[in-house]
Amino acid sequence: SKREGFATIPDVSWDDIGALKTVREELQTAIVEPIKDPELYASVGISAPTGVLLWGPPGCGKTLLAKAVAAESKANFISIKGPELLNKFVGESEAAVRRVFTRARSSIPCVIFFDELDALVPRRDDTVSESSARVVNTLLTELDGLSERQGIYVIAATNRPDIIDEAMLRPGRLETPLFVDLPGPEERKEILKALLRHNKAVDDVENVAEIAGTEACNGYSGADLGAFLRQAGHNALRRRSKRLDAADFLLAAKKVKGSVGDMKRYYE
Ligand code: ATP
Repeated sequence: SKREGFATIPDVSWDDIGALKTVREELQTAIVEPIKDPELYASVGISAPTGVLLWGPPGCGKTLLAKAVAAESKANFISIKGPELLNKFVGESEAAVRRVFTRARSSIPCVIFFDELDALVPRRDDTVSESSARVVNTLLTELDGLSERQGIYVIAATNRPDIIDEAMLRPGRLETPLFVDLPGPEERKEILKALLRHNKAVDDVENVAEIAGTEACNGYSGADLGAFLRQAGHNALRRRSKRLDAADFLLAAKKVKGSVGDMKRYYE
């Protein structure tokens, strides 16, 4: 089933992800290899792979990366959006957090992906509510329990690392922060090519990828490149063709605007 919160093995491979080479390599060594060969890692004293925090602007592949990690290591995948677990009734949010880990324990090996982590674990300062603080504590307790329990790996994602409770990022918890940046021109080409692995309606892939690398597509995230491809499809249909050509993409670039805007204010 595709229902959120339930364990399934995703069908996303590294090949479905364009660019992000360094991040992919880091995830391979931080999580995929240890899941595949836990004994090798145990023999050098690494008993559990480290938790990872993927951070960066929206639509740049964080969810895709987490799914690929699970698929490449043949682990189950439980995907949770932070806000989903929040409940106004006393104690319900903590219970929901604990249920996620209980479910993971019954489907090991398992990757738990917490998207929008900032909503779940805001920094515990004067402004944060008592119930929020309890949710943070519950998640910390679950994470700290993981080292003795083989087979559960946590990946979290956020656009706002600056507002996450710092205790989440200590060693043994989400200790590996990986920045998933907005793609540059060369990376946009690679991402479009990755998207075109699943869309066979383009003949001159190289030529069309060049367009993604031009100024017309500056500021596009991976998600925007998806929108760009869909818009080109509409353009093709409008001229009664089922093949997407360069002109369809050039026209699409005029229509689709980068959605991320100025994220620098968060990251500088
Ligand atoms: P958010 O912060 O909004 O949750 P995200 O970083 O998790 O965003 P994804 O959900 O992984 O982003 O990406 C959205 C879509 O954009 C993907 O399903 C995919 O179609 C496309 N995409 C984004 N980045 C890439 C990439 N590097 N390679 C291929 N496709 C990508």
